[in-house]
Amino acid sequence: MPTAAALTARIRLVQGDITRQPVAAIVNAANSSLLGGSGVDGAIHRAGGPKILEECRHLRARLYRSGLPTGQAVATTGGKLPAKYVIHTAGPVWHGGRQHEGEELAACYQSCLKIASARQFDSVAFPGISTGIYGYPKAEAAIAVREVRQWLGAHAVPATVTFVVFDDENQRLYEQALAEAARS
Ligand code: ADP
Repeated sequence: MPTAAALTARIRLVQGDITRQPVAAIVNAANSSLLGGSGVDGAIHRAGGPKILEECRHLRARLYRSGLPTGQAVATTGGKLPAKYVIHTAGPVWHGGRQHEGEELAACYQSCLKIASARQFDSVAFPGISTGIYGYPKAEAAIAVREVRQWLGAHAVPATVTFVVFDDENQRLYEQALAEAARS
């Protein structure tokens, strides 16, 4: 089991656009359709070009005819992105917190990390899954930090995880969550 300091060193926080991150794989807060959307999903497809959507369409037709279930994840090419791969995950829509949203959000992080490990993606960047249009309270960012730290504690891959936040509020909340996790 790595020390708390060793775990902390493998986690980064960046404020900015996830599509510019020079990592092996970026995570897309996609939706079940896998066919693109707004927010970070739209930004990733715009920056990555049509190859990503092409693969998503194939996956949808072959493996996910009723859509990608909430909490699951699947990888495609990164197209023209600096990241070689995109891991698409379908986050939960926030309905007040009593409809297993927490477990589903934790499952998103686990599913993405599982793919990263299995496919030896050395570095992965996550956006705040579900914290935009899906309405998940931003203050619950601690879930993301906890899931990632737990995974890194038990696995060597990915070597590093970057949390990419867009707005100042998320930046502050992640800083807090990371500082708390580092102390525990
Ligand atoms: P969801 O539907 O899962 O809520 P959104 O795309 O609406 O997904 O938002 C998820 C999070 O991603 C939000 O916190 C939003 O501010 C952030 N976001 C939007 N665009 C980008 C981007 N280009 N890079 C990083 N984060 C982004």
